[in-house]
Amino acid sequence: MAARFSNLSAVNKFFDLAADRLNLSSEMRKLLKSPVREVKVEIPLKMDDGSIEVFIGFRVQHDESRGPQKGGVRYHPKVSLDDVRALASLMTWKTTLINIPFGGAKGGVICDPKKMSSGELERMTRTYISRIIQFIGPNRDVLAPDIGTDSQIMAWMMDEYSKIYGYTPGVVTGKPLELEGSLGREQAVGMGIVFLARELARDLKLKLKGTKVAVQGFGKVGYNASLLLEKEGCRIVAVSDSKGGVYNGKGLNVNKVKEIYNKKKSVGSYPEAEKISNEKLLEVGCDILIPSALAGEIKETNARKIKASIVIEGANSPVTPEADRMLEQMGVTVVPDVLANAGGVVVSYFEWVQNLQQVSWEEDYVNNNLMKKMISSYREVSELSKREKVSARVAAYMIALDRVMKATKLRGI
Ligand code: NAD
Repeated sequence: MAARFSNLSAVNKFFDLAADRLNLSSEMRKLLKSPVREVKVEIPLKMDDGSIEVFIGFRVQHDESRGPQKGGVRYHPKVSLDDVRALASLMTWKTTLINIPFGGAKGGVICDPKKMSSGELERMTRTYISRIIQFIGPNRDVLAPDIGTDSQIMAWMMDEYSKIYGYTPGVVTGKPLELEGSLGREQAVGMGIVFLARELARDLKLKLKGTKVAVQGFGKVGYNASLLLEKEGCRIVAVSDSKGGVYNGKGLNVNKVKEIYNKKKSVGSYPEAEKISNEKLLEVGCDILIPSALAGEIKETNARKIKASIVIEGANSPVTPEADRMLEQMGVTVVPDVLANAGGVVVSYFEWVQNLQQVSWEEDYVNNNLMKKMISSYREVSELSKREKVSARVAAYMIALDRVMKATKLRGI
């Protein structure tokens, strides 16, 4: 039986593969792997029916050598401290690879936001922020959305912080536009995926027009990636959410799927398609597969069933290290999470810059700058990968580890 997936072991496994290539000392490995700070808080909450629940929240700050900590907050029943540690570390490698002046952090609350009212979510969010308030701020740690959180939740976070420190939009990114959110942030991960897909197509001599794409997860990442790739001329043949998916080899109409998703809270009622399970979605005939839901979905047991020749990791850690090795042997091109979904944190960085300077950029300007960042990092990764004969993931980690190590040494231990 395959061992239970641990996101933290997976991230550290990829770290070690890159550290081996860089000949990093064991002291440096220990230093770069371990987080700067871990905070665990109790969040007591009066529910709408008068009962009292106690939720547990975390904030893990992994590295601050190159700038303030930066990372999303996840609301999900399966949040664990180890998972948050893994995601915080992944953020360090992502912000560093993409070369923006941030470290890496992550937060989470163990809860099921789908079963909570808006009032309950607001009260829980405010208490979470009040309990970590001394550790966050525009120059300390900047929060953002992730699974189960959205721009409204970011607005409450910003408001709670501002009650103590005065109006401070730069403490949180992914805010509503009315509260100094950035144009282009909502679609940023999907847009980044499009820029990478264009580069890949050029390198692999493929035409994006007519390319078949399957997307697992239909949230902020999966929906926008589907929509923007459809606009590029790709055929979106399958999408899914937590309840299952739909498939049509001729292509789905993404806007129609979204309408149904908004009404029924699931893509499954889309009429002109075959209903499929989430497992099956990963195995459908397609050219590009974009896992955009949870970690560990592509594993030892299903990697060989994947038919796509390109996997773009919209989600964090969707491919386990064992599956990663198998996909490499199968000749599948894997664009690793630290590069593939970095569009989100790049535009979060742009949002933070706009907030600090009290300016607002036009959407074209945001997207053009995002494109430059995505393309230059893609080129750096693919050149190093060719030169060192390592996978794109190992090359990406090598670039990031080297930069963090240099910054750490320059600042002094
Ligand atoms: P979201 O909450 O907006 O959407 C998650 C989607 O995944 C939903 O459609 C949900 O139904 C679906 N889902 C949940 N469990 C599933 C399962 N077992 N199988 C298939 N689908 C399932 O979250 P999001 O912001 O889109 O994040 C998705 C992934 O992308 C996460 O791994 C997240 O860490 C990563 N990510 C998000 C951002 C961002 O800015 N939002 C940036 C980088 C990476």
